[in-house]
Amino acid sequence: MNLRLIKIRAELKKNKLDGLLVSLPANISYLTESISRDAYLLICAEKNIYFTDSRYTEEAKGFLKDNACLEQSNGSVFKAIAKACRKLGLKNVGFEERYLAFAEFARLHQLSKNEFSLVPTHGLVEQLREIKDASEIAKIRKAVQITQATVEHISKFLHPGLKEVEVVGEIERFIRLTGARACAFDVIVASGPNSSKPHHLSGERLICDNQPVLIDLGVEYQGYKSDLTRVFFLGKINVLLRKVYNIVLKAQEKAIKLIRPNVEIAEIDKAARDYIAKCGYAGKFEHNLGHGFGLEVHESPHISAKEGSLVEAGMIFTIEPGIYLPGKFGVRIEDMILVTNKGCEVLSGAVHK
Ligand code: ZN
Ligand code: ZN
Repeated sequence: MNLRLIKIRAELKKNKLDGLLVSLPANISYLTESISRDAYLLICAEKNIYFTDSRYTEEAKGFLKDNACLEQSNGSVFKAIAKACRKLGLKNVGFEERYLAFAEFARLHQLSKNEFSLVPTHGLVEQLREIKDASEIAKIRKAVQITQATVEHISKFLHPGLKEVEVVGEIERFIRLTGARACAFDVIVASGPNSSKPHHLSGERLICDNQPVLIDLGVEYQGYKSDLTRVFFLGKINVLLRKVYNIVLKAQEKAIKLIRPNVEIAEIDKAARDYIAKCGYAGKFEHNLGHGFGLEVHESPHISAKEGSLVEAGMIFTIEPGIYLPGKFGVRIEDMILVTNKGCEVLSGAVHK
């Protein structure tokens, strides 16, 4: 059984749980060191059981090894889970409150026949996922590499007259041919005034000279994600745009400089936010400064003003300040950071375009 499962079993003990039903695919993938789909994982002191259906049993046999036994559920998976809980004599079974639909909870409760109770849990596996191990860091590095190669390629591909969606299509094509399984999320290509919408839905708009093009992209490599934003300029850059770009870049630098173990996460957010406010753009940067990523594109820790925890070595997160001026343009610069024992490494140390 792997170290991750040993750690989560220790968490069960701490939380006075006899078992834990894991339903978030990223958490199951993490605990089984695989890419898990359409499965549930029941963890308890005696054994771990991986429930899936016939579509996935062959691949599951390949990756489960001694981490969990496989149970193929051809009928109702919840019947199989409830039966296993009863057979193992579990009394308090934790479930992931954010990742079990109410109907599923109700069904499982009904099938428990009051022999076991379902206990809501929050973030038990996610907190382990905050600190990446060497194998995870290696996969993320590869995802970052592909992302950087894509940015390099797109910088040559971009020209006035292309539609935003044509650029999206080229990115999708390129990343797959460069070794990624898929995009980590819907690629954002936001040209001209569309760039003021932080999560613009790319469309038919033509890319024009003398306007910015904001591109936010990420890839998935062996289950691990990346997330990077760059702003490109075609033609001349106007004075205001240059000014705003430099403020965002400086805000990002100020935040990155602070990153090292034991610093308060909220302090990092504050450094970038205060600088942007001092430059006269308070209220034009409303989202968090960054977020962890790995098996999911957004995961713990959240780099926000409200985050009470400290930075730890092995965390990987984005730093992405932005300034958005509706009707005009927006600038966001997003890089990926690995916290080291003494400070941090900017994994995406690509040239800012
Ligand atoms: Zn992004
Ligand atoms: Zn991001």
